[in-house]
Amino acid sequence: MINLRECLESAVSVCKSARPDSHVPIITDIPPNLPIHCIGDEQRIKQILVNLIGNALKFTREGTITLKAVVKSNELLVSITDTGVGISASDLTKIFHRFQQVDSSLLRKFEGSGLGLSIAKGLSELMGGDLSVTSVVGKGSEFVLKLPLKLPDDVE
Ligand code: ADP
Repeated sequence: MINLRECLESAVSVCKSARPDSHVPIITDIPPNLPIHCIGDEQRIKQILVNLIGNALKFTREGTITLKAVVKSNELLVSITDTGVGISASDLTKIFHRFQQVDSSLLRKFEGSGLGLSIAKGLSELMGGDLSVTSVVGKGSEFVLKLPLKLPDDVE
């Protein structure tokens, strides 16, 4: 059993303390009616969110990063939106592949292994969900994690 709100908030605070140099605020929009307890794998959900928020912080110099949670019938949608560099349409088709980075030159400005998003997508599918992205170069990106929401009452 996990406390969903705590899980989302703790992912944000892990990322904030990992990047004390970033001045980009992370806004959370978590509805009051979010079910407090649900069945799920807290560590996996957190790993995915830390990866997405970490990337948003890495690729956003100014503006905001927003984590928004929405409950739709028996689905949980968590979106991470940033106002960063954005990703071109052709790169969008590749970023969930292993070892894929948009700028793969050795002199690239941002560190990383290119593995985070492929692992995050794999983990979300293992949990019966999905991870998708939309983006506009120069405007920002939105990653949406969709997970089936299982409440304690659903379990026999
Ligand atoms: P890495 O650990 O190298 O960042 P990821 O798999 O997490 O690997 O991301 C792959 C690539 O996708 C990144 O190197 C970057 O080019 C692009 N990317 C991921 N998230 C964002 C984002 N929020 N804004 C812009 N580009 C992004």
